[in-house]
Amino acid sequence: MCHYSFKARFIFPVDRAPIAEGVLSVEGHHITQVARRTKSAVWDLGNVAILPALVNVHTHLEFSHLPQPLGNPGMCFADWVRAVLANRQEATGPEQSGRLSGPSPVVRGLSESLQTGSVTLGEVANTAWNEKDFEQVCPTGTIFFELIGLSETRIQELISTVLELIAAAKQAPTRWQIGFSPHAPYTASGSLITQVAKLAAIHKFSLAMHLAETRAEIDFLREGRGPLRELLEERGVWNSTCFQHPLRALDYLKILAEAPRALIVHGNYLDQEELQFLAKHSETMTLVYCPRTHAYFGHSPYPLFQALQSGVHVALGTDSKASNPDLNLLTDMRFARQQHPAVTGDQILRMGTLHGAQALSAADRLGSLSVGKRASWIAVELPERDDPDPHDLVFQSLLPVSLVVVDGKPVYAQGKMGAFLKKWREEAGTG
Ligand SMILES: [Zn+2]
Repeated sequence: MCHYSFKARFIFPVDRAPIAEGVLSVEGHHITQVARRTKSAVWDLGNVAILPALVNVHTHLEFSHLPQPLGNPGMCFADWVRAVLANRQEATGPEQSGRLSGPSPVVRGLSESLQTGSVTLGEVANTAWNEKDFEQVCPTGTIFFELIGLSETRIQELISTVLELIAAAKQAPTRWQIGFSPHAPYTASGSLITQVAKLAAIHKFSLAMHLAETRAEIDFLREGRGPLRELLEERGVWNSTCFQHPLRALDYLKILAEAPRALIVHGNYLDQEELQFLAKHSETMTLVYCPRTHAYFGHSPYPLFQALQSGVHVALGTDSKASNPDLNLLTDMRFARQQHPAVTGDQILRMGTLHGAQALSAADRLGSLSVGKRASWIAVELPERDDPDPHDLVFQSLLPVSLVVVDGKPVYAQGKMGAFLKKWREEAGTG
């Protein structure tokens, strides 16, 4: 079995303090040692940081072909949803074939994720998903099937689909775990969410749901009025019997708490009581912050510091390229570091690695550089300067991920790591 040791200017194990001039040792697919020095020969990677591979817990890869986010920064959210729906219709319409040459949006998104260091994803896939796309490129994680339904007929259809997907996953497990995503409180009825949460508890799968994303959603839940109701009416799906106003995000948190794991996506407008509820359920519920997508819509400042102070378990996502220029989670981590000076670099690193792995039920094998875990790690180029907090060498910088290793195998390299990758592969081939 191949054994390698890699030395770097800093190693960030995440489950303990950064190690200057540290050494990461790997045997086969697993980490065997993380230390200050080792007796065996090392490959010195130079002025880089070795981090666990990143975990991006919220994507919609179907939009990965978009050259830029839809609409304009700060636009009305309901108008943005209209733009998303129009784009989705175009992508699945009869003229679609031929318009998009090359790899599918999902494959493009997986490749982009891999090349920027994210090898584990929480992906929300719509019902037109193509299983083969997800098997082609390296990142894995959880596919949350999107559930949208307000009518009784639609809800029954969706529950049948959920049961079929669970049965199929049990019969033939794939590299991806399955989960379900009731889309949002204005597009998934309380009855649908309750039934799916009960099934999640019985069959042990995770849920993800957009919640408290906009002020318009909070107002809609309270009063049943506003731009989101207009959107539903316009699409002919408004069903007043689905909503017993006044409602609030807390009502949905209580339903989702039944699932063995639940990702609360965005939560931009959760109040203190709702954050406390999440803190109380931090073993099973994760708040998902999408830094640049949050900024794109010009929301009120994100309550990240308050959430962390309260004990909420927070992980990070990019969301899709319909609201973020790319799928580079490291850029989102750096953006979050800038936006929230009171939140430490160590906390940002945890959110983008170990917390994400916990949120996707993968922390037994990923998310930190711990002995026995999978050897999935990245190297990030570091600036020449010193910093009292080594985390800021990674976060107060624009330098890229230059090497990505999954399960002990190098899968991507750029810049000077290209030559190193070649050497490594040659050695592995002959050894
Ligand atoms: Zn989303």
